[in-house]
Amino acid sequence: MAPSSPATKQTKLTTKGGISRDKSSNSVAASSTTTNGTKRPRPDGTDVPPEAKKSKANSTHKAFPANPPEPNEVDDNTTVLERLDEAREKLPKGIKHTQGGSVLYWMRMKDIRIKDNKALSLASETAKKFKKNLVILHVLSPGDYKAHDRGPARIDWVLRNLKLVQEELDTYNIPLAIRTFEKRKTIPKEVLKLAREWKASHIFANLEYEIDELRRDIALCEAVAEDGNADMELSFFHDYVLVEPGTVLTGAGKPYSVFSPFHKNWHNILAGHLEDMSRDYPLPSANGDSIRSDSALGKLFEEQIPESVDGYEVKDEEFKQTLRDLFPAGTDAAEEALRRFTLTKSQPGQFQHSPTVDGGASEEDPKSSRLAMYTQDRSLPNIDGGSRMSPYLAAGIISPRALLRALIGQCKGKLPMTRDTGYGSFAQELCFRDFYQHVMVAWPRVSMGRNFLLKYEDVQWDDDPNGEKIKAWEEGKTGFPFIDAGMRQMRKQGWMHNRARMAVASFLVKDLMLNWKEGERIFSKYLIDGDLGSNNGGWQWSASTGTDPQPYFRIFNPTNQGEKFDPDGDYIRYFVPELKNVKGKAIHDPHKHLKISEFKATGYPKPIVDHAQARKKAIARFKNPGTTDDE
Ligand SMILES: Cc1cc2nc3c(=O)[nH]c(=O)nc-3n(C[C@H](O)[C@H](O)[C@H](O)COP(=O)(O)OP(=O)(O)OC[C@H]3O[C@@H](n4cnc5c(N)ncnc54)[C@H](O)[C@@H]3O)c2cc1C
Repeated sequence: MAPSSPATKQTKLTTKGGISRDKSSNSVAASSTTTNGTKRPRPDGTDVPPEAKKSKANSTHKAFPANPPEPNEVDDNTTVLERLDEAREKLPKGIKHTQGGSVLYWMRMKDIRIKDNKALSLASETAKKFKKNLVILHVLSPGDYKAHDRGPARIDWVLRNLKLVQEELDTYNIPLAIRTFEKRKTIPKEVLKLAREWKASHIFANLEYEIDELRRDIALCEAVAEDGNADMELSFFHDYVLVEPGTVLTGAGKPYSVFSPFHKNWHNILAGHLEDMSRDYPLPSANGDSIRSDSALGKLFEEQIPESVDGYEVKDEEFKQTLRDLFPAGTDAAEEALRRFTLTKSQPGQFQHSPTVDGGASEEDPKSSRLAMYTQDRSLPNIDGGSRMSPYLAAGIISPRALLRALIGQCKGKLPMTRDTGYGSFAQELCFRDFYQHVMVAWPRVSMGRNFLLKYEDVQWDDDPNGEKIKAWEEGKTGFPFIDAGMRQMRKQGWMHNRARMAVASFLVKDLMLNWKEGERIFSKYLIDGDLGSNNGGWQWSASTGTDPQPYFRIFNPTNQGEKFDPDGDYIRYFVPELKNVKGKAIHDPHKHLKISEFKATGYPKPIVDHAQARKKAIARFKNPGTTDDE
């Protein structure tokens, strides 16, 4: 068996009753008094309130039926993660550990690094113990990319980082093999076949929490079980999050759907086991030179990471270069970005610089660093007040534990809790990241295109017959400068500031009255940091359909968002060049403030919607889901 200290436990993590078996988190979960009593919504829809079941007044957005059928594998008593645990339990026991052969670590698209990688580190430990070679596999899966609406920037990011990892692994005599399997359902059996070919006795992997990925791992367990040979061990680990899903529970043993009590309990768990849960997993040990002449494994060193995957090429050369300039690949780059965030001051006009490059501030000044000032500065898109670590975290180029260590390193080894310091605010954002992964495990319907709050399944969306509204939004031509700046930043850089993400999401849903699922898909297509849990969490928060969402009647004013968070308009001027010569407050609403001739000369579009009217309509539609009586 793989080692099983609290922090190194495999996926045998939660019992049926949802209580962690992990000693460290168990004690906290069991003693927690924080119970919000939230009733867990039933995926079968039985908690849909009567008003949400009113007949549909009109049928809109045919691409996204309001109630896609619930797959029968999902019920509300057992999470898919628990089923994976059960499937692993059923595997033949008593594996004979012979020497020779290999241990396989399956590197997924969310853990592309060598440093502080739980599954890799433990795979290496096992290989060393049984005198086996360590082999690494990455699977390119266009079927998965399609299912997750991945775009070229995200896939290019994976390939760039795999390339660096492969080069570095070569110095350890560890091969990184790469295979493409077009049909995602075939992956488990294909991986098992490779494991057999490479005489692997163990497969190690870090978990991905999307439902299809968990089902894939269940299928791998089943394929091993079908074989009937008790000669293969599977080990899965929680590495993508700081606190594992299924362990932050209410006093009644239920998952949280409200963030504040989740955060409190999450904080208690982490703070209570900080040393263990922030540990830095050792680098893998090198294989002996003999692997290079091994008949099955030697040739794996010749494998090349492709430049692109068919259908996911970054075709625009300028965009390709921008991605490389802004987000250099590799863990060293991620660590440098983190160092700068932790120790150097923020600067205005940083949106054109990489977070790893000195765009003005280079001197270390921890007391007024971006981390220290995070509470004040994080919402201002014109400055580098946030870490811009999201691409590195989403692809696992750096571990979340590395961020935790950097944070507590500035806080005398303690984990801050409250938002009154930059440190506490940053800790809360890391908690949000965990929260949305936990939500996805507890309520898998959110990753299957459904609302968390089922009462909003029948909210009536507007028609967009020729796709004109969605096109204007996607292209950043809505006539609302702050919204357009955000969308154009995403198209130009593959990344968007959080404040702009919230504003553009609210605009799509509440001003254009278009289904949030369209926005989620378009974000995923462009973002280099696309992550289903965070993306869905952000969209459902903005659409008022998610866990602990923005209430439906609190609607962002798209003009005020710019006035408040980009007061000088520099962010707008940079990303919306038509407006670069517009002075003063007019930058936020040029159609209103410029003379007609001046406005026409800019070439910038008129607002495509009247915000005051749209706001009223959205409130009416959400107040009475199923109706289009907008007054
Ligand atoms: C509609 C919408 C869609 C989003 N889609 C994604 C996505 O696909 N991928 C993604 O990583 N984030 C997403 N976010 C969350 C957030 O916008 C980004 O994580 C953040 O902008 C990244 O910038 P940063 O690294 O400077 O963050 P920082 O402010 O420095 O925060 C540090 C880290 O905490 C995490 N984090 C911060 N805020 C959030 C949040 N609200 N939810 C979850 N994690 C958070 C991120 O990993 C981030 O890198 C989305 C938010 C919204 C409103």
